[in-house]
Amino acid sequence: MKDFQKELKADVSSLKGIGPKKAIKLQKIGIRSISDFIFYFPRDYEDRRYVKNISEVNDGEIAFLRCRADLIVKGKNRYGKKNTLRLLATDDTGSLEVVFFNAAFMENTFLKNETYSFFGKITKRDGRTQMMHPDFAKWEENPSNGILPIYNLTQGILQNEMRKWIKSALTLIEGITDYLPIETIKRNRLCGLDYALHNIHFPEDVQKLKEAKYRLIFEELLFLQIGLLIIRGKLLEPGRGIAFSPNTPIDAFIQTLPYNLTNAQLRVLETIISDMEIPKVMSRLIQGDVGSGKTVLAAAAIYKAFQSGYQAVMMAPTELLARQHYLTMQELFKNFDLQIGFLSANISGNARKKLLSELITGEINLLIGTHAVIQPTVLFKNLGLVITDEQHRFGVNQRVLLSKKGVDPDILVMTATPIPRTLAIILYGDLDISVLDEMPPGRKKIITRITTKDDRKSAYAFIKEEIKNGRQAYVVAPLIEDSEVLDAKSATGLFDELSIEFKGFRTALIHGELKQTEKDAIMSSFNEGKIDVLIATVVIEVGINVPNATCILIENAERFGLAQLHQLRGRVGRAEYQSYCFLSTDTDSKLGIERTDIMQQTNDGFLIADKDLELRGPGEFFGTKQHGLPELKIANLIKHIKVLEQVRRESSVLLASDPNLIRREHAELKGHIEQMFEIVEGVIL
Ligand code: ADP
Ligand code: MG
Repeated sequence: MKDFQKELKADVSSLKGIGPKKAIKLQKIGIRSISDFIFYFPRDYEDRRYVKNISEVNDGEIAFLRCRADLIVKGKNRYGKKNTLRLLATDDTGSLEVVFFNAAFMENTFLKNETYSFFGKITKRDGRTQMMHPDFAKWEENPSNGILPIYNLTQGILQNEMRKWIKSALTLIEGITDYLPIETIKRNRLCGLDYALHNIHFPEDVQKLKEAKYRLIFEELLFLQIGLLIIRGKLLEPGRGIAFSPNTPIDAFIQTLPYNLTNAQLRVLETIISDMEIPKVMSRLIQGDVGSGKTVLAAAAIYKAFQSGYQAVMMAPTELLARQHYLTMQELFKNFDLQIGFLSANISGNARKKLLSELITGEINLLIGTHAVIQPTVLFKNLGLVITDEQHRFGVNQRVLLSKKGVDPDILVMTATPIPRTLAIILYGDLDISVLDEMPPGRKKIITRITTKDDRKSAYAFIKEEIKNGRQAYVVAPLIEDSEVLDAKSATGLFDELSIEFKGFRTALIHGELKQTEKDAIMSSFNEGKIDVLIATVVIEVGINVPNATCILIENAERFGLAQLHQLRGRVGRAEYQSYCFLSTDTDSKLGIERTDIMQQTNDGFLIADKDLELRGPGEFFGTKQHGLPELKIANLIKHIKVLEQVRRESSVLLASDPNLIRREHAELKGHIEQMFEIVEGVIL
């Protein structure tokens, strides 16, 4: 039998026509082996099955033509260089002009009276029919030839070369055995691997392409889903969770709060507490728009764990946010003997040693920190509750590693990023979801205004008035320092400018490259009201809570995505004061205008997320990176949600019979999943 594994692993240079130079170029697009070639799926396809008549082509149409080159004209540009090439191309029904710009190098490519194939977009203007830069070949070398793949390329690699190489790579794996279990294929009516791979690259017809696509999307989602389920299964082993004592009411804590909880908060809190009291691992996702008051719910859960004699850990994606939580929790628990520790990469030496030992002895009840809390040296006495804030910023594995520090601790994750419910359920397994759909009372809709160069002064004047009334402001820029390449404002540049503009007021600058101690000092001064205008980069994007700040001016607003603008805007409007957001933009791009319009119209994060999805497409918005999932090649979590639902059923069936995929017929499947999650065997799966 043929050894396909060996074929697949072979270096690309084993293919004809790939020397060291091409091999290096191919590496740039991630192609090193034959397998990489085969799994480098087309971006799109060209339908070259039907030759069109020139007389029947329409403006804007992509057409495949068979024409004779009647007249070849080499034009000069205004510098006198011969660099445009025009052909009069004719078939039995008419003629059109084929144009190539910057075509000095192809001066002698075409022969008069020879027949060629042309594939490209038709433009019709002023009675003239043209095709610019079509794909072409001598007809006899490239006759009408089916549906051709279009690949993403890199400089120095041609479309035709890619096609040729992938075609010959495919011949090497003809008859390859499928890595999906035969039952899976049957149950879901999938086509076989060999068929799928051939037809995804060189589909014989549209139907076969569809079948191929479906199978490859299905398998990719299957790897993802099974991987997630196994990770999750491991998380829940050995099946029993902690039952926190029902004799530890949280009223004592709630009574110390300076406000009444909203109905939504009360409702969600009740679910959290009942989850905690039953002997099952709580896995709850709290979705709530920015400012809806998620932190206090986390605190209540921590209090419950503390009263029951357990430790808790809370992880935040940025140091700034983690520090803020640290301060908030100190304030919230000031009436209780609950010891709080803080850990980040910046805590070292003796302070770190002391902290780690107090965690082991149980002197510290609550640890708050960044990713640093995952490190293997961080050990607890009896960790009972794991909280991650702004969940979408963490990878699946990070959440698992943190939970492993206790014995089946309860898990609470919080996010302001709305994820459609079906998707969340599938992605996070049986993670339960609670939605905080109510803002604390007295919050006013943030007034959002577009500000151009000309009325920036009036925005500044407005901000000064607010400061005189005791409020504070943020000014946000996309860059840290001025850039020679990017035409965008920098925080450093703005700071210089605004120090003059806001003379007499207290200004400060904060960005990611400052030392931690400096950032801390600035944030706490701002928090204490000792700074009037804080000029910042997006370091303040998530979670920062300074309720006295009522104005935020965002420079180059067109550079930010809607969801990001919404997060930034969420830094104000966090108390009863009327708040304002100025979106400064000088571009009149359609997308820019559309975005800023939406921001003006609504404060609803869910709606904004929908719009973001619409404008930017699912690729970017629900990019797997945003959810800490492995990258997908062909499947799309939003577009293929129906397939995902089917995949979910298949995964349960497979795992029911073989929960850890240890059976021999599942070995290859497991290998693919491990590869996808970049998991070294034995670590998690
Ligand atoms: P987020 O959900 O964005 O994490 P936070 O938990 O930071 O929001 O809460 C935002 C602000 O609202 C904080 O200043 C917090 O003290 C305040 N807050 C939370 N709940 C209430 C409430 N029920 N009534 C009044 N203010 C509240
Ligand atoms: Mg928060």
